Amino acid sequence: MKALIIGAGIGGMSAAAALKQQGIECDIFEAVKEIKPVGAALSIWSNGVKCMNHLGMGHIMDQLGGPMHYLAYQDGLTGTVMTQFSLTPLVEAVGERPCPVSRADLQSQMIDWWGRDTIQFGKRIEKVAQDDAGVTAYFTDGTHATGDFMIAADGTHSKVRTHVLGYETERRYAGYVNWNGLVNIDEDIAPGNQWTTFVAEGKRVSIMPIAEGRFYFFFDVPLPKGLAEDRSTVIKDLSDYFKGWAQPVQTLIAAIDPETTNRIEIHDIEPFDTLVKDKIALLGDSAHSTTPDIGQGGCSALEDAVVLGQCFAETQDITNALKNYEEKRRFRVKDLVLKARKRCDVTHGKDMQETQAWYNELRHETGDNIIEGLRNTIAGGPLA
Ligand code: FAD
Repeated sequence: MKALIIGAGIGGMSAAAALKQQGIECDIFEAVKEIKPVGAALSIWSNGVKCMNHLGMGHIMDQLGGPMHYLAYQDGLTGTVMTQFSLTPLVEAVGERPCPVSRADLQSQMIDWWGRDTIQFGKRIEKVAQDDAGVTAYFTDGTHATGDFMIAADGTHSKVRTHVLGYETERRYAGYVNWNGLVNIDEDIAPGNQWTTFVAEGKRVSIMPIAEGRFYFFFDVPLPKGLAEDRSTVIKDLSDYFKGWAQPVQTLIAAIDPETTNRIEIHDIEPFDTLVKDKIALLGDSAHSTTPDIGQGGCSALEDAVVLGQCFAETQDITNALKNYEEKRRFRVKDLVLKARKRCDVTHGKDMQETQAWYNELRHETGDNIIEGLRNTIAGGPLA
C-alpha cells in the first residue's frame, strides 16, 4: 500500500512516520526547494512530545527542547511579577515535559530522520483526482504521482482542502500581529529556565528558553491588517508599540536581529467537520488552522499523525481507516481552534474590561488554575 504525503512540515513528516510504523510506503512531496519556516520556534507541549516519542522521534525533543521549568507573568509596564510558579506539578500530572524548540531545527531533524534524499522537493500540488483505483496528485511542473491514498498536510493555504470540503475556506484575521525570533539567553531579559510573559494594554511579550542557550521571543500587538511594516522597520515599530514598557522588554528589543525577525499577521480558519473525502485526508493546518494562542497547532498535527497510525493499525481498509481518523479527530481539533480563539481575544484586548479582569486574576494566580488549564488541553490528546 502506498500513501502520497503532500507537504514536508511537521504534519507531513509525522504522518509519514506514523504510516511507516504500519508498514505503509510513503512518497513525500514538498512545494519548496528549501524549507523556510514562518516562525522562529514553537512550544511542543507534553501531548506533542508524547506523540514525537510514540513516532520514534523522541530523541529530537531531547536534543532541541529548552529548559522551561518555570512560568511567570509580569506587568509589562512596571515589570512587577504577577505570578510565578514551577511547571513540575504539570509534568508530574501529565507524565511528560513541554519542549520549546527551534522550528527550523525541528523540521530539519524530522526530515533528516526520514531521509532528506527520499523527499521530492519543488513539487507543488495544484490538483488532485481519485477513483476506485486510488489517487493522483498533479504538480505545477506538469508531473503527476499516483498512490492508494493521500494525506494532504499542505498547510493553512492548502490546495487540497477545496477538493475535500467541496468549497473554498477563508482565513480569518485574528486582529493582531506577531513578531518572533531568537536571541541569546540574557538574564537581564528573563530567567533562562522560565517561560516569561509581559502583559499590558492588550499586548504581550513572551520569552522561552530553547536549546543551545537561546531565547525564543515573540511580541503581539493588536493592529489592523495590511500595515506598511516589515523587517526594515522592526526596531522602530517595536520601540514605538512598547514605549514606556519595563526595562527587560527594552533590553530585548535592543538585542533582536531584524534580519531574522518574522512579522506575521495572525489568522485562523473557522473549524469544519469534514477532514476526509474517500481516499484523501487533511492533516495538520490544512485540516485545522488555529491562532497560536495555546501553542497547539503543531501539537495537534502530531496528534493527527498518531491517530492516523492507530486507525491503520486497526484496519488496512483505506476508506474505513480514514473515516475512523476523521471521526476520532474532528471534535478535538475544533475544540482546540475555538479554545485558542477565545484565549486570543482575552490576551489581545478584544474587550479590554475582560482583559483587565484577566490581568487581575493573574495577580492572584498561584499556578493551580493555569496548570489545570494546560493539563486539560494536554489530557485531550490521543496518548493521555
Ligand atoms: P506547515 O508547517 O505549514 O507545513 C506545510 C508544508 O506544506 C510546507 O512545508 C509547505 O511548503 C508545503 N506546501 C504548501 N502548499 C503546498 C503544495 N501546494 N504542494 C506541496 N506542498 C505544499 N504550534 C505549536 O504546537 N506550538 C507553538 O508554540 C506554535 N507557535 C506558533 C507561532 C506562530 C507565530 C505560528 C504562525 C504558528 C505556531 N504554531 C504553533 C502552529 C504550527 O506552526 C503549525 O500548526 C504547524 O506548523 C502545522 O504544520 P503543518 O505541517 O500542518 O503545516
